[in-house]
Amino acid sequence: MVVEVESFFGVYMLFCTNPKFKGRIYIGFTVNPERRIGQHNAGRQKGGAKRTSGKGPWEMVLIIHGFPSDIAALRFEWAWQHPHYSRRLAHVARRVRRESSLQFHWRVASHMLQVAPWSRLPLTVRWLRPEYHLNFAPALWPPAHMPVAFGGVRAKKKRPAAEAACQEQEVEEEDGVKECCKLCLKTVKSADKLSCFLPSCDTVCHLICLARHFLKSEPGHLLPVEGRCPGCNCSVLWGNLIRHKNGCYGDLEETATVPSSQSHCAAELQL
Ligand SMILES: [Zn+2]
Ligand SMILES: [Zn+2]
Repeated sequence: MVVEVESFFGVYMLFCTNPKFKGRIYIGFTVNPERRIGQHNAGRQKGGAKRTSGKGPWEMVLIIHGFPSDIAALRFEWAWQHPHYSRRLAHVARRVRRESSLQFHWRVASHMLQVAPWSRLPLTVRWLRPEYHLNFAPALWPPAHMPVAFGGVRAKKKRPAAEAACQEQEVEEEDGVKECCKLCLKTVKSADKLSCFLPSCDTVCHLICLARHFLKSEPGHLLPVEGRCPGCNCSVLWGNLIRHKNGCYGDLEETATVPSSQSHCAAELQL
């Protein structure tokens, strides 16, 4: 199953399957994973990177997505490529001889998900090719709001702005009622709307109003992690609200977000 995600910013890991260069790793940033892997395998003339050109085929094995912006994703990409230059990752040991390049880069990513600012982002760790899946080391499980998912992901095509606005108007007229933010009581447009996804709750808020509401209990942070819905008062994860908005919530409901046994991981692989 391939999930479609809106406003997609991801950092991926390529694995080289060419026998001459087998096991080499490349880390990059993309807004469109399907197109990007095609470019890498088509070579430099077709938009592939210099380092991957002519060494393919490459497989996109892992992608970490859910970054709030391209800048945030590009910073993650740089630190993942250069862990020993990043002061946030000064505690990450260098690659050891028995460690493959894939294992090393996975270890670096595992550490990155544990430290600020990345530990607070609503990220999803997605094994695009589950046959390459590695477990987190016991001490390196990511925060509970970061799910591990398996399978493909696709960036949802953006509708042209005029068409989107037009359709939005139609919906409003059809319903006859405008949706109002539970917190400021002003009208909410779908572009900046977050809705509570709990079945018995129809609360909608402006994204910014809800972020401020959640952050009241966590002063000093820019991004909320968890808070209570102002409608139903249930505790919800910020990342799940965002995933719900972007359309990649459904496929995560059955994946693990907490440390689990080997057998649980085997079950996830069958999703
Ligand atoms: Zn509001
Ligand atoms: Zn609610």
